[in-house]
Amino acid sequence: MKPIEMKTPLVEMDGDEMTRVLWKLIKEELLLPFIDLKTEYYDLGLPHRDETDDQVTVDAANAIKRLHVGVKCATITPNKQRVEEYSLKEMWKSPNGTIRAILDGTVFRTPIVTSCIHPVVKTWEKPITIARHAYGDVYKATEYRVTAPGKAELVFTDKDGNETRQTIFDFEGAGVLQGQYNRDDSIASFARSAMRFALSTGQDLWFSAKDTISKQYDQTFKLIFEEIYEKEFRAAFEEKGITYFYTLIDDAVARVIRSKGGFIWACKNYDGDVMSDMISTAFGSLAMMTSVLVSPDGNYEYEAAHGTVTRHWYRYQAGEKTSTNPVATIFAWTGALRKRGELDGTPALCGFADKLEQACIETIESGVMTKDLTLLSEIPVRETADSFRFITAIREKLEEKLA
Ligand code: NAP
Ligand code: MG
Repeated sequence: MKPIEMKTPLVEMDGDEMTRVLWKLIKEELLLPFIDLKTEYYDLGLPHRDETDDQVTVDAANAIKRLHVGVKCATITPNKQRVEEYSLKEMWKSPNGTIRAILDGTVFRTPIVTSCIHPVVKTWEKPITIARHAYGDVYKATEYRVTAPGKAELVFTDKDGNETRQTIFDFEGAGVLQGQYNRDDSIASFARSAMRFALSTGQDLWFSAKDTISKQYDQTFKLIFEEIYEKEFRAAFEEKGITYFYTLIDDAVARVIRSKGGFIWACKNYDGDVMSDMISTAFGSLAMMTSVLVSPDGNYEYEAAHGTVTRHWYRYQAGEKTSTNPVATIFAWTGALRKRGELDGTPALCGFADKLEQACIETIESGVMTKDLTLLSEIPVRETADSFRFITAIREKLEEKLA
């Protein structure tokens, strides 16, 4: 078979531990034999981040700005224990945080569904994608523990020194206080990313907040979304036959549970944190959750939602076979290849991505799966496969499809 042509390279970001092992296997078994794979390779594995004083992470993010599509392996975010384990020069920042700060944008998480694992919510037929605003609010709040009676005020001082002052509360005893903020430009880029993603996947977009109670803060989010939709997106949404609407967060929760799925739910930072765990758990497994960062100016970075699966890595290093699920990492590759194909006008690459995804799903649905899925499967398990055997089974299915 002639390898499938690729025009522009992907930004390939290698990572750590068990997912680094899977990364290599996926390339060798599922990609290189079939496509003329072109990548610009950045090693974001912790040892190399340390060697380059984390410059490699910055270089990778800038490469995504240039090439527009990247695929990333899970990476360790070092803590104190990791600094010792890897003898690091410094406790380097989270690579995902660094990349997000350079690209800006919104993270979309979507479960991968199969017919043998049903969501807890019986009505859900299609995946639900959470778009979480990953900036500000309670994550950047200033807090104060009030221990004695006193007056709390909200004071804003402009550049000329003019003050506006509002009483928050007159405390007669102990209590707590919190100050949150967000920025119009960040909210606007959240709105644009969400709307762009809705268009590119052909799904409706929901946005929820609590503007009835938060008459300035949440109201600002609602108004910015509305303005951007009307000015920049309404025509394209109508042409595509998809809709955008705003609703209160409590109404959204009720509607999500009654829905069939198949839409994008944009959430403020805290709501997105909570709701994405609810959605992923209700759909099944963290190992079956994809994640993509979409920047407002149209750059895409694909990855699995899970981490480096450290517990499996330690067993692998001890010479044991592990049954680590590679599906979300494979889908990071297929997502990136499909996007590359769309941007370059190479439909054969998109077709390959579709077939590889089908091969994964059909392998699971034939009863061959990794251990995490055997616990959830509603069909008889024919074989609990280790990672290598599972990838080989996927390859067999893929070869049938490509023949
Ligand atoms: P994790 O790697 O997601 O693993 C947590 C547990 O979930 C695993 O021990 C395993 O459970 C199960 N699991 C996750 N993915 C699986 C898969 N593909 N197949 C089978 N089981 C899977 O999270 P963590 O242990 O909290 O974090 C490990 C490292 O990953 C940390 O250094 C963290 O900094 C990093 N991390 C990176 C990213 C990222 O790069 N995006 C995200 C999160 C965490 P069992 O052990 O019970 O089988
Ligand atoms: Mg969370």
